Amino acid sequence: MTSFAHEHVAQSDPMQQGPVLPELDYELLRRYDTAGPRYTSYPTARELTDSFGEAHYRHHAELSRARSAGAPLSLYVHVPFCESPCFYCGCNRLITRDRAAGDRYIANLSREAALLAPLFDEHREVQQLHLGGGTPNFLRADQVPVLIENLGQRFLLTNSTARDFSIELDPRFLTTGFIAMLAELGFNRASLGVQDFDPQVQRAVNRIQSIEQTLEVIAECREHGFRSVNVDLLYGLPRQTVTGFRRTLRTVVEARPDRLAVYGYAHLPQLFKAQRQIEAAELPDARTRIALLKLAIEELGAAGYRYIGLDHFALPSDELTLAQARGDLQRNFMGYTTHAGSDLLGLGISAISHIGDSFSQNHRDLTKWEAALDAERLPIWRGLAAGFDDVVRADVIQQIMCRGEVDMHDIERRRAIAFADYFAPELGKLAALAADGLVTMDAERIRATSRGRLLLRLIAMCFDRYLAASSRIVASGTLQAAPFSRVI
Ligand code: SF4
Repeated sequence: MTSFAHEHVAQSDPMQQGPVLPELDYELLRRYDTAGPRYTSYPTARELTDSFGEAHYRHHAELSRARSAGAPLSLYVHVPFCESPCFYCGCNRLITRDRAAGDRYIANLSREAALLAPLFDEHREVQQLHLGGGTPNFLRADQVPVLIENLGQRFLLTNSTARDFSIELDPRFLTTGFIAMLAELGFNRASLGVQDFDPQVQRAVNRIQSIEQTLEVIAECREHGFRSVNVDLLYGLPRQTVTGFRRTLRTVVEARPDRLAVYGYAHLPQLFKAQRQIEAAELPDARTRIALLKLAIEELGAAGYRYIGLDHFALPSDELTLAQARGDLQRNFMGYTTHAGSDLLGLGISAISHIGDSFSQNHRDLTKWEAALDAERLPIWRGLAAGFDDVVRADVIQQIMCRGEVDMHDIERRRAIAFADYFAPELGKLAALAADGLVTMDAERIRATSRGRLLLRLIAMCFDRYLAASSRIVASGTLQAAPFSRVI
């Protein structure tokens, strides 16, 4: 059997200092197989509580109105419906074939937009719009324009070519003319779920999706001028093999998607009912999981992709790669982004908003969400107002997740703290990671090494006050990775 211990798959980049790809160290990955958040926010969504409600949301919207006149807005719209359950799924979705459910949902989204929009300055342009799910293309080609028209009546959807209007697509259910319709509405980014083309794996996870239909969707997005196409893959699925996954990677890479996310499947049947359909005995063991991850890193590196962080890779020309090189890559609930400075308004069930220093989440339950709208109330389920300490730590964690380093002087200047005093216990925790070669520290910077780049979450966790207080497991780590979650 091949040994992966201390095998290095990092590659040098002649254009940039430092490695393009993270270095995979089997023993370290095993040792640090700790659960950890994905830090699309800090504090994470797990810290939201129902003591934060509609009045708090309105208060933070009011503050935002006062200080963010003219600043752009981001909208996230959750479309929860799917026709068929994928057994690995950990998303908040509703399985139905009843397209009329979409009509009713769109009408309710319109009511939610009508409640939200007056809280914000009407001149704020929506530069980032994302339809996520579930399966947004569960909606028919005549329903999506209605949704966008309704949003456009309430918010100033920009026409600018710099806009990011994106949608998650399931190639299995895409109808003729759907992508042309999206392009007509101004969509210019798409994210496609693929996971693995191996028929054995597809049968085991109840997601039969041909190579042809997937490649056609990528080609069609290109034909219609989409600026960026992302493909999601999953490793660690039942019956998955290195040989089969290599074929999948090579097939996908040949289509040159601008971005790729290679998530690790976490088997948590106690949390996600659909996963109970998966035979645990058919899951690859830890060694094979790492072999699959290693393969993905090697194949994507050989094909010219850059490692962005966590599970994300992008072509050198992609905006995420360019933003990372400039040092202004950010992270929000939609993942890595170039728009995180904007207030983010979430619409639809379970959607999360980030307004100023507050985070809030809508009801996850369709009935509760509808009932709140019937009563003309914002459908807020829970939330949190971040305090000074949260904001400082969010800043540090953002730097780790997006740049792989912390500029301590920058944090000191902007937050008026003495870094070494404020974070004395955290620096102590980092010393253990430094001893293992995951980070280096000097008077100015904490920097993830190429070995540490696959374990950015672990470095960030040292600065998470809530984890330190509770030692709770939030989501899982590299080997038993986070429940399948989407790129954006
Ligand atoms: S993985 Fe995507 S398409 Fe499959 S059930 Fe989950 S949300 Fe629906």
